[in-house]
Amino acid sequence: KSSFDVNWIKKDFPILQEKVNGRPLIWLDNAATTQKPRQVIDRISYFYEHENSNIHRAAHELAARATDAYEAAREKVRAFINARSTNEVVFVRGATEAINLVAKSWGEQNLKEGDEIVVSNLEHHANIVPWQQLAAKKGVKLRVIPVDDDGQIILDEYAKLLNNRTKLVTFTQVSNALGTVTPAKQIIDLAHQVGAKTLLDGAQSVSHLKVDLQYLNADFFVFSGHKVFGPTGIGVLYGKEDLLNQIQPWQGGGNMIKDVTFEHTQFHPAPNRFEAGTGNIADAVGLGAAIDYVNFLGIDNIHHYEHQLLVYATSLLKDIPGLRLVGTAPDKASVLSFTLKGFTNDEVGQALNKNGIAVRTGHHCAQPILRRFGLESTVRPSLAFYNTCQDIDTLVESILKIQSGKN
Ligand code: PMP
Repeated sequence: KSSFDVNWIKKDFPILQEKVNGRPLIWLDNAATTQKPRQVIDRISYFYEHENSNIHRAAHELAARATDAYEAAREKVRAFINARSTNEVVFVRGATEAINLVAKSWGEQNLKEGDEIVVSNLEHHANIVPWQQLAAKKGVKLRVIPVDDDGQIILDEYAKLLNNRTKLVTFTQVSNALGTVTPAKQIIDLAHQVGAKTLLDGAQSVSHLKVDLQYLNADFFVFSGHKVFGPTGIGVLYGKEDLLNQIQPWQGGGNMIKDVTFEHTQFHPAPNRFEAGTGNIADAVGLGAAIDYVNFLGIDNIHHYEHQLLVYATSLLKDIPGLRLVGTAPDKASVLSFTLKGFTNDEVGQALNKNGIAVRTGHHCAQPILRRFGLESTVRPSLAFYNTCQDIDTLVESILKIQSGKN
């Protein structure tokens, strides 16, 4: 156990004081979405009480406040992921929208028949379907990096997929279904050797480990605010600045133009060229507050604490007879995925809910990787820094109760 003062941290999260079925809520569905600290909730209220205005357009006091708050949030994101410039940070609705933006704009403009896109077997549907749609439209081939029995990408097999037709390698940094942390830097470097661009899906990584885009050198990076203790409806597309400026916008409208006539429109450079219309201003500001909160705890402290928690949970779960853990790579973050012999995953989920424990059951929007392990669904507890060893003990006791029929 560590000196990270979780009971103190928990007090910052109003919803963690809730009771569910008469029990204190134990939130172990962090891979689906994270809870919000008071600081984020208050920051959004403050925006609507003191700053609310549209941005960039009007020359009055509140427009200036709203614009400052929105652009300050962009700078917080930049620093958080160590981008070179705020021009590389585009606000979107979430990871899904960011990936679709890249597929519909960069993909449609740059890929042609015979080109290849490499994805990994670990991907969330959000990082499969847009590429499949693009592939169908353009005659592009989708190739899949296999994973080993632990759920880790097989680098040798990956290297064999690369050739001069490979135009994009797109993959997750942390698997939402298994928790595998992929060797992102190596994968990106190998892709660049054949001249391919790279997209790194950070939806499950930014809340658990330090992301440094200048080190990783990904061409695109995406994440969702709601999985990093911020609001829903806001997320980020990072792209290298020169690359973003070569791409034509995918949506047209206000905010993203320099000049419009009926004959011709000149677009702003990035990021504005990709932010058509009124954005989700208040929630971008809320995301900035969430990043402040994570920075206050320290992402390295979070990583260290959660690692201990994951090791503790893994050691207890793997000793439960009849429990099959899926995803056993040495390098993992947050996610424990399992099935319990003699019970459906829904039965397990509902029984845990009776004890106040929230986990996700199902395919986790990642059917291909579950099928790799012969499964259609699992029970998936997923950890965040506000979870404790006590939460894990309650989870384990509840599973034992299910097995003994005493639930
Ligand atoms: N990628 C991964 C790895 C995810 O876990 C998720 C969300 N489960 C997404 C993409 C999509 O994120 P969102 O639904 O917030 O757009």
